[in-house]
Amino acid sequence: MNKEKLWQAVLAQLQLILSRSNFSLWFKKTFIKKIKSQGQKQVVEIAVPSLFAKETIETNWQQQTKEILESLTGKKTKIVFVVKTKTKPLDVKTSGPLFDFDAEKEKRNLLKKSLLKAGLNQNYTFQNFAVAPTNEMAYAAATAVSKTPGKAYNPLFIYGGVGVGKTHLMQAMGIGFLQRKPQGSVLYKTGEDFTNEIIEAIRRKNTGFFKKKYRNVAFLLIDDIQFIAGRDTVQEEFFHTFNAIKQMGGQIVLTSDRSPEEIEKLESRLRSRFEGGLTIDVQEPNFELRTAILLIKAKQAGEEIPIETAKFIAQQVESTRKLEGVLIRILSEKRLRGKKITPETIKEILKKPEKETKTSSPRASSKEIVSRVAQFYQLKVSQIKGKRRLKQIVFPRQVAIFLLRRELGLTYQEIGRMFGGRDHTTIMHSEKKIKEIVKKSPETKKEISSIKQGLA
Ligand code: ADP
Ligand code: MG
Repeated sequence: MNKEKLWQAVLAQLQLILSRSNFSLWFKKTFIKKIKSQGQKQVVEIAVPSLFAKETIETNWQQQTKEILESLTGKKTKIVFVVKTKTKPLDVKTSGPLFDFDAEKEKRNLLKKSLLKAGLNQNYTFQNFAVAPTNEMAYAAATAVSKTPGKAYNPLFIYGGVGVGKTHLMQAMGIGFLQRKPQGSVLYKTGEDFTNEIIEAIRRKNTGFFKKKYRNVAFLLIDDIQFIAGRDTVQEEFFHTFNAIKQMGGQIVLTSDRSPEEIEKLESRLRSRFEGGLTIDVQEPNFELRTAILLIKAKQAGEEIPIETAKFIAQQVESTRKLEGVLIRILSEKRLRGKKITPETIKEILKKPEKETKTSSPRASSKEIVSRVAQFYQLKVSQIKGKRRLKQIVFPRQVAIFLLRRELGLTYQEIGRMFGGRDHTTIMHSEKKIKEIVKKSPETKKEISSIKQGLA
């Protein structure tokens, strides 16, 4: 097997373990750069597109990747990740006349660094965002704010259902701002990150650092702000952050799954501030928009798909999150088996129950998984998520962790956070433990499948 084929085979297996978004986010632009022998071992150098991707893969999937490589090659393997992107000839062509090539390159590097620092995903640009009647108001407001932050609407509050493009649009604003001002200070965080960070800062008696980090930002993007509702200290801190930034002339952008008015347990002084700028909703994407999103996503993945194909898929799949998953499955089918994309192949893929690809039900949320496990073992959710180390609680807790990994492909950090800020090594250990037990005990295996069956 050559490097390319080998890596395709590794990716195909990783795809079975990882959630679709994790897979496409972290593994899309990876490839094997080099394979060297070192005594009995082989050293496989894997190129990843960014430092962030490197760190994320190392912490979460290094072990699995290594095991897959070993099973495919039959050799003891050491893996090394290096940050490198494949430069396509296209990049050179688009970079303009030769004499400003270096300047362009430097600019791009600077931008990349700023994006990383701000916590932004470089694919979520305005260019990659399709506009339709369902989101055109939000888009117009977002571009205006991105161009003249602190002036147009402050805060800009965008709300709407799952997968309507709030996160994408919000990140595009940050990217647009940094494109014009690569040294600008932008920070993208989720409401959950903000919450965890302040709690951690209080625990470490280090709130000074936290305040400095947030209050001096020129462009603050907080995604899913509804998360802070009902938490007094967090809301208090956010209130001061909000005021400090606004006072300095900085911009604040917020997203939520509902309007400020509908967020329960939101302090009224926050509610009135959230409503003090512009509040805009984004509707579920219509058929045309879904088609456009597919075309954009395919292009990003380096593939062109015919419009008719995109239309066909958009007709059958309504949720954007699912759309991306289906597209990935179709493209990987094409890459792995050399299958042409025809309506038949698409139908086949859509018909295939997702269980077959082991990623399982996309509808089961992390909450459902935890509560289903709790119910099964007749415990409370708070006990499962809690700190007590009684044997009759520890095992169900490990099962929940195992299922969150397997069914949703959550990262160790994500699960750690869900379980009261546990360290990622603890989570890793729990997963491993259950994996081992399942291998040895058919009863446990059965037990876990019956929990799984109870999930949506
Ligand atoms: P939300 O935050 O509202 O739940 P996301 O921003 O995460 O939704 O969008 C889900 C997926 O759909 C992302 O991959 C995003 O890039 C894509 N998407 C949603 N709307 C659009 C759009 N108008 N144009 C391009 N991609 C979109
Ligand atoms: Mg979102």
